[in-house]
Amino acid sequence: MAFSTVSVMDIPFIKATSQEFLAQLQQDIDHQQNRFIVTANPEIVLYARDHPDYKKLILGADYITPDGIGIIKASQALKQPLPERVTGYDTMMALLDKANQQHLKVYLVGAKPEVMAKVVEKIQHNYPGIELSGYHDGYFKDDQAIVADIAAKQPQLVFAGLGYPKQEQWIQANLSKTKAIWMGVGGSFDVLSGLTKRAPKFWQDLHLEWFYRFLKEPTRFKRMLAIPKFMWLIRK
Ligand code: UDP
Repeated sequence: MAFSTVSVMDIPFIKATSQEFLAQLQQDIDHQQNRFIVTANPEIVLYARDHPDYKKLILGADYITPDGIGIIKASQALKQPLPERVTGYDTMMALLDKANQQHLKVYLVGAKPEVMAKVVEKIQHNYPGIELSGYHDGYFKDDQAIVADIAAKQPQLVFAGLGYPKQEQWIQANLSKTKAIWMGVGGSFDVLSGLTKRAPKFWQDLHLEWFYRFLKEPTRFKRMLAIPKFMWLIRK
């Protein structure tokens, strides 16, 4: 692997800036490598701690990136600071730019049908250079047709927005179908569609994106408790 890592609760995060990571991915694309990216936040780290099968699965990824300020803070508390957040959303957006310039083949799987329809509209409009090999919403019962389509089209980038742990399980099961950069992107299609808003930059800069999301979607409160729980475990 091209990067050294810092382990936070047994999960090895790549020690790289977004720029360094993207440069590596460009090389991987140029050399037609098959790559599995996991962008892990505190919730995922805690989930892996309680689910050995999932933990084993993500340890098999090529790159695990720190998706969230909680992981950065933890690395600092452990006196092995990671340089910065490398989020699924930002990485996906940067890869879409590359795909647009380099006419790469892209496949999208995930989110609700109306969300995916908007995403496809946006991509066709804003990224005319992308060759959209195919797409599907994330509420399929049977993925045989999708997987066969991916095998036939041989996309170079595959984004799976199915939420964890489903997206990582799905990627691992299908990784051999095409040599591509495979990345789980969580709720990123919802944001890209414009149907869900990301926190304004002000909130992001204050590292309060999580608080903004809580205000918008209070039902996520239980999930958000993962962050203080995670920090408490790290301090211990
Ligand atoms: N999702 C999906 N299929 C499922 C369950 C979820 O496509 O069976 C999608 C959901 O519509 C959303 C994303 O997966 O777009 C998960 O979003 P969430 O915000 O929960 O994920 P996170 O970003 O927190 O991992």
